[in-house]
Amino acid sequence: MQYIRDLKKYHWPKGPQDAVRLMMQEPCAEIIAGGTELLVSGLKGKEVNNLIDITRAGLSYIKKDKKTIKIGATTTISELQHAPVFKDFADGIISAAAAKFVSVQIRNAATIGGNLGAAMPSSDLAPVLMALDAKIFVCGKENKEFAINGFYISKRKTVMAPCEIITEIELPLACGDDKTGYAFQKIGRTEMDIALVNGAAAITINAGGEVKNARLSLGSVAPNTIRCLEIENNLLGKKLTRELIAAACDNIAKAIDPKTDVRASAKYRGTIAKVIATRLIEEAYIKAGGKI
Ligand SMILES: Cc1cc2nc3c(=O)[nH]c(=O)nc-3n(C[C@H](O)[C@H](O)[C@H](O)COP(=O)(O)OP(=O)(O)OC[C@H]3O[C@@H](n4cnc5c(N)ncnc54)[C@H](O)[C@@H]3O)c2cc1C
Repeated sequence: MQYIRDLKKYHWPKGPQDAVRLMMQEPCAEIIAGGTELLVSGLKGKEVNNLIDITRAGLSYIKKDKKTIKIGATTTISELQHAPVFKDFADGIISAAAAKFVSVQIRNAATIGGNLGAAMPSSDLAPVLMALDAKIFVCGKENKEFAINGFYISKRKTVMAPCEIITEIELPLACGDDKTGYAFQKIGRTEMDIALVNGAAAITINAGGEVKNARLSLGSVAPNTIRCLEIENNLLGKKLTRELIAAACDNIAKAIDPKTDVRASAKYRGTIAKVIATRLIEEAYIKAGGKI
């Protein structure tokens, strides 16, 4: 689709199965939610003359039960930002990431499903959802469930098959006595820009201050959002100090593959990635109750 005037049909499916049926029926169709990515750059090189709008498919909700929080795929970034449940959950990193999502206009239209489905390395929600160990539910010929770690293959590519859509994101609620601290960071050229580098961390410690579990994710430093598994392993079983955190992040260059673009050079991104990783670990450790 070069221009909106080339569009032949605009569909409003009533539910996810209906959307999948339409995708199978219409070979030149594309899913649209907020349209903030699709209508700006997501249609480049694609032959699309049908849009399937899933914003009336019953996927706008945030529900909490005893073990999880479930977020429907068409929940907007503004809804995430202002939902009371996210003010306290995980030290507020979902609301914090949503608040950093450029402008009110974009936040009111953009959705969580579109953010994950676009599979851009600068996504602000992907690193947060990785730190939270989220699951992604997908509807297609059959229903599927994916861990977010492993959901991305490369830029604009996920493990989803054609004619599948994201329906829900599930967050586990922490259980047990160990304390977990969370942090989110984003560096952009200005407050109104996508990330040069972003990231999130979740650090769980025991009563003695030793790290029992660590998750660290970074965006905009590789073809898609990554978990820094080697750094996470370097932290396990240790009481953290500034020197120890710096040493754990020393080999970050091995984990990342930054690119030069109009926003920053690969070298700058590499340098910033180390700063962000260090800050994230320190902040999450302190929020978990650790002393540095
Ligand atoms: C000016 C501007 C600023 C931006 N700033 C930010 C920012 O700060 N942080 C950030 O992370 N992003 C930013 N973005 C990118 C974009 O707004 C987000 O990625 C947004 O979350 C996309 O959601 P959407 O609902 O608008 O997706 P759409 O544009 O509707 O869709 C995006 C892609 O995902 C697919 N898709 C949509 N919903 C689903 C679904 N449920 N399942 C499977 N595939 C689906 C579509 O087919 C399309 O390919 C910005 C974009 C613009 C134009």
